[in-house]
Amino acid sequence: MFLMDLLIRRCRKGLPRELGAVAKAEGMEPAALARGIASGRIAVPKNPARKHRACAIGEGCTVKINVNIGTSGSRCDPALEMKKAQAALDNGADALMDLSTGGDLVAIRKKILKLDTTVGTVPVYEAVRRAGNAGDVTTDLLFKVIREHCKQGVDFLTLHCGVNLQALEALKADPRLMGVVSRGGSFHCAMMMQREEENPLFSEYDYLLEILAEYDVTVSLGDGMRPGCLQDAGKLAKSVEYNTLGLLARRAQDAGVQRMIEGPGHMPLDQVGYNVRMIKEITDHAPLYLLGPLVTDIAPGYDHVVAAIGGATACLNGADFLCMVSPSEHLALPDVDDIVEGTRVAKIAAHVGDTVRKHEGWRDEREVRMADARHALDWDAQFRLALYGDHAKGIHCRDGEMETCSMCGDLCAVKLVNELFGTGAGKLAGTPARKKKGN
Ligand code: SF4
Repeated sequence: MFLMDLLIRRCRKGLPRELGAVAKAEGMEPAALARGIASGRIAVPKNPARKHRACAIGEGCTVKINVNIGTSGSRCDPALEMKKAQAALDNGADALMDLSTGGDLVAIRKKILKLDTTVGTVPVYEAVRRAGNAGDVTTDLLFKVIREHCKQGVDFLTLHCGVNLQALEALKADPRLMGVVSRGGSFHCAMMMQREEENPLFSEYDYLLEILAEYDVTVSLGDGMRPGCLQDAGKLAKSVEYNTLGLLARRAQDAGVQRMIEGPGHMPLDQVGYNVRMIKEITDHAPLYLLGPLVTDIAPGYDHVVAAIGGATACLNGADFLCMVSPSEHLALPDVDDIVEGTRVAKIAAHVGDTVRKHEGWRDEREVRMADARHALDWDAQFRLALYGDHAKGIHCRDGEMETCSMCGDLCAVKLVNELFGTGAGKLAGTPARKKKGN
């Protein structure tokens, strides 16, 4: 493929026709989307080898969510992973990452790539499986696997290019309680330490960009040094890695390769905003893809809620893409129910982000109409407008169908105020007057 065919470069002349649906989905002018992609502030990870529904991630776009699926060495059931993938898409996932490390990795990926969605992978996982252990992954094997993923149609690759000798030095100089918790990060540390060599993804970064440009695949610059607990959030390794990612992000943009930045793991809530703004600043406002952030370490089983609190706060400060955290995070490989619950909660966090990212997004029609429906005690409308109406209906109806709900029953404040003020109650609430259902 000639470099002039790269999406970033094509967008300098206007929005390519195939991205019309993406602009429409965002409610963006095509020219604005094209400018965002050309400047690197928006990414549309889309491998030209596949035809599928793409999405835009970045400045001015709605917050997107990714759901990780994939087999492990302990639990390898490809059929279950496909069910999880479908459950994620049915509940609002915008992208899937196949993190499989067990079974026939090529065959599993082939099935996932048939789904009508954006797909990402972490090639070093497969390289380690093929080599037997991380220390035996050669540079040639790693680049071979990366090329195979590109060729097979993967849209974005997480590559831990910033886990270099300098970051390793920082880790040693300023030790952390949890060391390295990123799987990819730990593999690259093992490779560097065992061979006493630089990470090839860093030392051969230009060659890596050539491969990605050849297939027009997006790089997601992995945060292999992300902190694994609140106590590690302020340590040096993370900051050293981010500075490196800032430089690598610019080189990718110059090479016409779309890029995203990953970050920042576990961190206290009051550090989330500052970190997000700092990463955005040093990476030229590249789209930011967040793992978490997990804002407490003592709620295993509810880490999806913990991540949603951190994720919404991060979106308020400019994060663009949230990675779903399931209730089984830190505990086990998620099952289908975990994926449904985690996806829904991540989607809510993303929506909360949208209510403040877009100019007064909380004034959007759906939010206003929900207030109307609540004021009118119009339960059907409430279920229609809810992000997950079936779930809401199940809760409301478990005590039988009634005009109010069973919380206050005959002492319903909404009903009483409606009776007292009639349509004037709407004016008090600042919303248009409406009729109560059944009147
Ligand atoms: S019964 Fe109470 S909780 Fe339920 S709608 Fe009325 S005021 Fe709200």
